[in-house]
Amino acid sequence: MNNRQLFLQHLAQTTDFPLMIEVEKAEGIYLYGANGEKYIDLISGIGVSNVGHRHPQVLDAIHRQLDKYLHLMVYGEYVQSPQSLLAKALTDTLPEILDNVYLVNSGSEAIEGALKLAKRYTGRPKLISCVDAYHGSSHGSLSVGGNEIFKQAYRPLLPGVSHIRYGEISDLEIIDKQTAAILIETVQGEGGIRVASKEYFHALRKRCDDTGTLLILDEVQCGFGRTGKFWAFEHHGIIPDILVCAKGMGGGMPIGAFIANKEVMGVFKNNPILGHITTFGGHPVSSAASLATIKILLEENLIEEVEAKAELFKALLVHPKIKSIRNKGLLMAVEFESFDVLKPIIDTAIEMGVITDWFLFCDDSMRIAPPLTISVEQIHEACEVILASIEKVFPS
Ligand code: PMP
Repeated sequence: MNNRQLFLQHLAQTTDFPLMIEVEKAEGIYLYGANGEKYIDLISGIGVSNVGHRHPQVLDAIHRQLDKYLHLMVYGEYVQSPQSLLAKALTDTLPEILDNVYLVNSGSEAIEGALKLAKRYTGRPKLISCVDAYHGSSHGSLSVGGNEIFKQAYRPLLPGVSHIRYGEISDLEIIDKQTAAILIETVQGEGGIRVASKEYFHALRKRCDDTGTLLILDEVQCGFGRTGKFWAFEHHGIIPDILVCAKGMGGGMPIGAFIANKEVMGVFKNNPILGHITTFGGHPVSSAASLATIKILLEENLIEEVEAKAELFKALLVHPKIKSIRNKGLLMAVEFESFDVLKPIIDTAIEMGVITDWFLFCDDSMRIAPPLTISVEQIHEACEVILASIEKVFPS
């Protein structure tokens, strides 16, 4: 059997229509196919490759760590310098109060840890999240997810979870003194790039302060420079109690984290001890890659360039079939009339060498979230292909 047949026969499938692009090599913004194809990756493996594929400094950090050690011990026991240095570098990007980092392996896992921490710290039973939120696919993170279609087959899920509308100040009243935490994406990703106002985030912060509820911000998709600030919450001038990140954090390696104040995080140490544990969390190779990723983001001016690059996309992607473009930095949704209009355009663009996608809970919009390293010329090249794909499917 060839690779494609093995993929279909022996690898668990999640849809009946996988993309099945077979990649030989990736570099920068490009994926190179098994038969000489060359694709521009405009989705960064769903928000992961913020510093591009195989950034030389990430590779170098990985190589250096490979020569020292791989897994040594479960999380939280041995002093492993990649973890400690990463925790320090992360907290250096954050307000002083967020000074303690719990390293895990993925976004879902970071959400699980954050929810447990909020319940344990406050001793309260209730959790609140938003309609159309996506926080992961494990039982806990699915419970706080905001899409009924994805949840209904897996009930019973976590009790005590309520959903409010994202960005609606009047809904914040539901947060009360029984609420352990509200969990919210600073920019809604899978909902199709929805951006709530600064006013909303201030009202949210105030309601949490008034009720003693912890504010958990999910920046798994919008963190790590994607929106033009290192953290998306910096746009709003508020500070979460717990911050969750993953995806872009590892520069292409699997890692996630939830970050809080040391006093809050301290509750995991007793009643019971080992309140949250993981074998592989903060794997030394992933941690080394993540540390390099932070340095790249801070040193290469990538974050400063996000806004201008996003504006260029918006200026170039003008076509009667495009209804609107929603974005926060290089997290973009290009809206079409319907999925039926969008899907053939996405398929054609892939044939012509540009990979885009739609969103889990918003299938009329094209996902554009390229590596932040994309150049002005490459943005022109990518947009020309998208416009040509629209013309090919719907000649004007
Ligand atoms: N939160 C958000 C906002 C996400 O976009 C995702 C993944 N798409 C997750 C959490 C879950 O992350 P993971 O797939 O790494 O478990």
